[in-house]
Amino acid sequence: MISELSQRPVWTKMGRYLVSSELFLDAVFTARCSCACPWCIARTKERPDEDRRAWEEAVQDAFRLFPIRSVIILGGEATEDPAFFEKLKFLTQAMAGHSAEQLILTTNGIMLRDENFLHRVASSRIDAVNLSRMHDSQEINDRIFGRPTPTRSEIQAMNRELTARGKTLRLNVNVWRGNLDTVEDMERFARAFAGCCDAIKFTPLMATDMFDTIEPVTEYTEAHAIPEREIAALWDAFAARHGETERASRVLGFVDYASVSACGQRVILKYAQVEDKYDRSSVIPTLKVYPNGCLSNEWSFTKDIREGMRRNV
Ligand code: SF4
Repeated sequence: MISELSQRPVWTKMGRYLVSSELFLDAVFTARCSCACPWCIARTKERPDEDRRAWEEAVQDAFRLFPIRSVIILGGEATEDPAFFEKLKFLTQAMAGHSAEQLILTTNGIMLRDENFLHRVASSRIDAVNLSRMHDSQEINDRIFGRPTPTRSEIQAMNRELTARGKTLRLNVNVWRGNLDTVEDMERFARAFAGCCDAIKFTPLMATDMFDTIEPVTEYTEAHAIPEREIAALWDAFAARHGETERASRVLGFVDYASVSACGQRVILKYAQVEDKYDRSSVIPTLKVYPNGCLSNEWSFTKDIREGMRRNV
């Protein structure tokens, strides 16, 4: 079901927008990360300055001005932020008293190998951890990230700790040319991590504009992104083999296909697709707060949506 658009559009310096009534807030803690994933925009050229006070103000404004339903902690690698737990506490307090229901941490999982760190995350307000994992082979995965990444047994231990506290662990996999780009690759991955997580989510590496101050996509992304039509065929082939159990349209028609793999592991196939009736440029499914305090509906840490805002939603 497609969530309703707000009945009250918002006007800004950049134009008029319709805002989802189930808005996601991407809380970018830091642009820093010590990994080396070849497609990563966080590693390229310019980064926003870090201004903690401005960031906190932007978070408060986001809750005051928009109907935020879910908050996703992002980076760079958010857990590498020395102020990670302070910012987490701030977000938790900001969410209290508003309608935000869910707090999700997206991470490469490296800091969660530390038992104390994991314990603090598991004991926090965070509802779900989405851990990036790009290959079932430990050696290949470490090579992609450029650092030792969590092993299968470490991921299993994280899952146990999180599940014991009513939280979930999901593995996020990017699909690109030359890496897990066949049904058999995806099945092997699902088998390798069956029982270690709540779900495995496959998302195509997308050649979309990111921070507007750097080149639109990295050269790696440009060379390895799989065209939307091929991804749709791959998803359909996977779903046909395993039986699709659910196909859901979420915020503003961004579609998730879900199916169950042969080994019983829940698998989500993410297909970023906007329903035709919406003009992509005039709807806001997510907002982003950057480390410099910019609150934007774009991958830009310079275009603040609060500039010239004439009416609040
Ligand atoms: S772990 Fe994430 S933030 Fe770090 S380099 Fe890889 S994709 Fe970028």
